[in-house]
Order: sequence, then C-alpha cells, then structure tokens
Amino acid sequence: MEKINLKALWIEELESFLDKLGEKKYKAKQLAKWIYNKGVTDFEQMTDLSKELRRKLSEVAYIGKLKLTRKQVSKIDQTEKFLFELSDGKRIETVLMREKNRVTVCISTQVGCALNCIFCATGKSGFERNLSAGEIVDQIIAVKGYLKEDEKVTNVVIMGMGEPLLNYENTVKAIRIIQSELGLSISAKRITLSTSGIAPEIYKLADERLKIKLALSLNAPDDELRRKLMPIAKKYPLSEVLEALKYYAKKNDIRITFEYVLIKDVNDSEEQALKLAKLIRGIPCKINLIPYNPIKECPYKKPDEETLIKFRDILYPRAPAVTLRRSKGEDIQAACGQLKAGM
Ligand code: SF4
Repeated sequence: MEKINLKALWIEELESFLDKLGEKKYKAKQLAKWIYNKGVTDFEQMTDLSKELRRKLSEVAYIGKLKLTRKQVSKIDQTEKFLFELSDGKRIETVLMREKNRVTVCISTQVGCALNCIFCATGKSGFERNLSAGEIVDQIIAVKGYLKEDEKVTNVVIMGMGEPLLNYENTVKAIRIIQSELGLSISAKRITLSTSGIAPEIYKLADERLKIKLALSLNAPDDELRRKLMPIAKKYPLSEVLEALKYYAKKNDIRITFEYVLIKDVNDSEEQALKLAKLIRGIPCKINLIPYNPIKECPYKKPDEETLIKFRDILYPRAPAVTLRRSKGEDIQAACGQLKAGM
C-alpha cells in the first residue's frame, strides 16, 4: 500500500484519516500542530502521541518535505531566494525578505504560470501544474529553518510563481493552515494575496471571509494597454475586476492594494498617472508603484528616477496612499516578475 503524505491534509481530512486507523478524531489537532506548527517530519518526535499510534503512523504515512536545491543571498539587501524541488522533480522558488521589523516570505502557488504577462519571467516558461496546499505551506515551514535565531516569519505574500486564484481550492486551504493556531499562526492582516484579476474567484474569495489583504496586479490605467501587458485582461475587463474588488473590500472590511509595475515609455507618462488616479477613485485602496525589474527575456526598461518620482507625485494626494517600492533581491532575480525556478 502506498503511504499517505500527511502534509497535504488539514483538520477534517486528518480526522477521517485517524478514524480509518481506528483512532480518536481529536488527535488530528495534535497531529496538525506537530506537522505545521512545529514542522516535525519524524513521527518519533511527536511525544504526546502514544508509541502505538506513532508506530501505526510510520507504517501507513509520511510527512513530505521540500528539497532545497539552491539558496542565493542578495549582496544588495539581505533577500534570500530558495529553489525547492518537489517530489516529482519539478521546481519552484520562494523568497525571504527582511525589512526593519518584518520578515516576509513570498510563496508560489503553481509551477510556472499560464497567464504570460509580458513583463514576467514566470509566465515565459508556461504552466506545468498546481501546487498542493501542503506544498504551498511547506515553503514557509522550510524557510523558517533558515532564519536567524532571533527571527520569525511575520508576513506572508502570495505573489511568487503562478496565479493563486487559478489554484483556488489549494490556495484557500493553504491560507487556512497559515492562519490557524495549529498551523503557522500568522494573522490574516499579515497575509497578502496578489492576483492578476480573476473576477469570479475574487467574489468567491470575498465570501470566504478570510480577511486577508488582496492586491491587484494592475499595471495599466486602461483596458487597451492592460490587454497588451496582461493577456488575461482580455477575459476580465477592468470594470468587472474593479467591481469584484469593491465587493471584496466591503465584505472583508479592508482596503485594496493596487500594484503598478512602472515600465519605461510603456505606462509611466503623466497622462497615465492622471488616468490611474481617476480609475481607482472611490475605492478604499493604496497604490504600490514598483519600478520594472529587467529580465533577459524582455526588452523593457526601468524608468529613470525623475520619472518615477513625478509619477508618484501626480498620484498622491489624488489617490489615498501611494508608495514607491524599492525592489528586493534584484541581483539574484528574486524581485517581482523575475522568478522562474531555473526553467
Ligand atoms: S505576473 Fe503573475 S500572473 Fe502574470 S505571468 Fe507572472 S506569475 Fe503569472
């Protein structure tokens, strides 16, 4: 009989697994805590479970673990990029960023991505498969093992490889594990999911009432340009996506983050800044401006400093909050849109 990977199951599934083993369901919580909260992979270390149960578990189950194949550290900041191998040999990347009191892990939800945004390295390599909830969560558990003694993960951003809302069920399950006290115990307000704008799934996510932060990868102030930069915009026009975001903001009582990657001579003009301010009017939000990170597969460039500042200054105070973000880990291709897992 093939052994079951327990790091793919959450409480109800662990309960039914234990039930089938003839064990009491309440032990699922103890098991979950060992697997996700303590990151233990050896049943022998689960000291509050009986010897008999530990023996049974090791006969029929195992606890999967990502295999680290490479770790790079940025010389500019302390950003670290991890290349992990999954059980089927496929590879994903995860990024650890440090900033003042924050330690943020940026996790992937798919191997590759089908959406092919023109500025993104992940999209260039195509889609291979969805990650399981266990594989999504395991990136954080694995990175925790490389933190300094006095550090802990404070924030999680679901912005790595892939479109999380196209791997909806596994991503939501992973978020529940990340939030739970039996899991990673990271509060909703410290988790941000970034989407390219899959409108129907945004409504669905709103109704889950997870209360996590939601970011839209916007990148253009109108549909015409957005369709050129992000092919998915042909399916979901801005009017539809913005309505879905308003619904999300209302249901979860949060403000939306708009991410806008500034690309030289593509979306960085004064006129486009004014158009952008008008577009988001009335939505509780903040705008993150991200200077484009060049990748060798694309001819695009980063705007010069003066253009970046001018764009920001036109937007603020027309928009409620604007930050001009400095990319992390650019020298190790760990910045936004640069992840490709050696594909
Ligand atoms: S930006 Fe996001 S959605 Fe677009 S291709 Fe890259 S990973 Fe996929």
